[in-house]
Amino acid sequence: MAEGHEYQPGHIDCFFFQYQTNCEEGQDCQFLHRESCKSSGDVCPVWHEQNGCTDHACPKKHLNREILKQYFLCDEENSNNYCTRKNCRMYHDEVSYFNGFVHSASEVPVLAEERRIESNNFQLNNYPQTQRSLKSASQFIITAVRFIQLAVQNGKLSADRGKQYIKEILHTILFLCHINNPSFEPQEILEESMDSWTRKFPVVFEQYKTHLPTRPPYTILLEIVVDYNGSDNTEKILDFL
Ligand SMILES: [Zn+2]
Ligand SMILES: [Zn+2]
Ligand SMILES: [Zn+2]
Repeated sequence: MAEGHEYQPGHIDCFFFQYQTNCEEGQDCQFLHRESCKSSGDVCPVWHEQNGCTDHACPKKHLNREILKQYFLCDEENSNNYCTRKNCRMYHDEVSYFNGFVHSASEVPVLAEERRIESNNFQLNNYPQTQRSLKSASQFIITAVRFIQLAVQNGKLSADRGKQYIKEILHTILFLCHINNPSFEPQEILEESMDSWTRKFPVVFEQYKTHLPTRPPYTILLEIVVDYNGSDNTEKILDFL
């Protein structure tokens, strides 16, 4: 962020309004409640460079990681480095592991050029995982969905959380297939079930090209296994596998 440009709440998009279903402050909120950028994963470059974007209907977010940490960071994460609340609404910069449950880091908007660099890094850092999951992307999705279904049926995972995991896995797989060279279209991976997927998770298909996944598919699957067992005890997980 350029120096000498102070970001006041009146210049900043409300995290709750953008990323949660609603902001409890409503009309009294000191931050911006803008609909126009809700579906965007991009930081507005004009806002980012010089805090100069005054367009209320701007399609990009007036928000970045630095500001999220400054104004919306979870108080528990801030003091303990992890959050113990199951349904915490605050911003989380890191993944929390506590008493056998895990919650993910929050989504962060990025600048378009950062996304390009991060896409490359994500692919490089996760190369072996990426290659394996690309070869068998559709198999991975089917297996993960079956496993989640089982966990929900057995009451080990709530239906909501199960759906959230499936959504995240789908997003990550479509993203990886998209940035792969040569890239694969969702149609090639999902084949005849494509229609049901688009009906169930329309947002994923709108966003997978522009919104970076936060972690590779195997990490998500591991989190589900940990969730399922209600423990981060390695022996128990190994028994399970
Ligand atoms: Zn608000
Ligand atoms: Zn803007
Ligand atoms: Zn929290």
